[in-house]
Amino acid sequence: MSGEALDRLMKMRDDPYAAARAWKERTGGKVMGYFCCYAPEEMIHAAGALPVRITGENRDISKSGAHLQNYCCSLARTGLDMALDGTLSFLDGTVFVHTCDTMQRLSDIWRLNAGFAVHADLVLPVRFETSSAWDYMTSELASFAEGLEKELGPMEDSALVESIKLFNRNRALLAKLYQMRLASPGILPYDQALWCSTSSALMDKAEHTALLEEIITDLQAGTATTDGSGVPLFGIGSVMDQWDFLAMVAESGATFIDDDFCNGRRYFDFEVPEDVPPVEGIARRLWGRSSCPCKHVPSRDRGACLADRATAAGAKGAIFFQFKFCEPHAFDYPHVKKALDKAGIPSLNLEFEQGSVSIGQLRTRVGALVETIKA
Ligand code: SF4
Repeated sequence: MSGEALDRLMKMRDDPYAAARAWKERTGGKVMGYFCCYAPEEMIHAAGALPVRITGENRDISKSGAHLQNYCCSLARTGLDMALDGTLSFLDGTVFVHTCDTMQRLSDIWRLNAGFAVHADLVLPVRFETSSAWDYMTSELASFAEGLEKELGPMEDSALVESIKLFNRNRALLAKLYQMRLASPGILPYDQALWCSTSSALMDKAEHTALLEEIITDLQAGTATTDGSGVPLFGIGSVMDQWDFLAMVAESGATFIDDDFCNGRRYFDFEVPEDVPPVEGIARRLWGRSSCPCKHVPSRDRGACLADRATAAGAKGAIFFQFKFCEPHAFDYPHVKKALDKAGIPSLNLEFEQGSVSIGQLRTRVGALVETIKA
């Protein structure tokens, strides 16, 4: 590691929600949880609350089994378990963006059983780029903002504009960090770069932005911390929080050079345009950023886009790291794999459940991919 700021951020990984609990204690403000990165964090922030991403965790299920079948993804099962056993008791409420079937059902189960005071749903269009989808999306975002105001407090337009600027600054810094790694992968191990992005959704944004500024200055002044000569890979999936897995990939002689994880580049991709009214700007970002398999963007073929991005990053291989039972990513996989094959990028599809990742088995498969690429 290089520098005090990075050190501070990395310590958070042992207790990802400590910063949110401390923020609540310090400010007395409200904390709003959310699962999906289509949630308009700026609106929550502008209403005076702290938006915090719930990413599940590696744990044995004790309580959520009574509400969710074993064939739901572990993100939903461990997240609900954390709510039911009090791990998320610092939350005042939760925002659910209706993306996949699991999230839509989880919203109702959560509202009825988790016991938080505030519950908000945001139902965005599935197919973008039509005028009716645009009208629906902007009106849905506007009424979501009104609903938040009733629950959290006033959200002045000027406050929303300031929140957008702050969040854009944070996005620009994360993009710069990823760009610096692309040019020189040895400056920062990938798991630390990904944690820089992941932690942005877990703490006060201004505080995180100040840390990022410092980290980037330190990296610009410092020397490489690893030799950066590993086989460059591209990562694809939803939430990637398996740090032991990433350590194993590095030990196997590879490094992720870029990704499409929703706590990675998909989280900070594309800034909110600041030259249009704030709600319109937020809608434009959600519309324009790298889409997840729950959304259909007719002008952008997801497979071709990912293959182009992997090629541009210089990736020699790709790893799909998917939650078991995640239908959107599973349905998308054959199409994206075909596009990667066409671009000459070999790939590996790994399924996992939080709490039961077998690093030994995965090591063999990752090792085989790395050897194939090197051959
Ligand atoms: S998109 Fe996949 S990983 Fe995300 S909540 Fe839905 S089923 Fe789970």
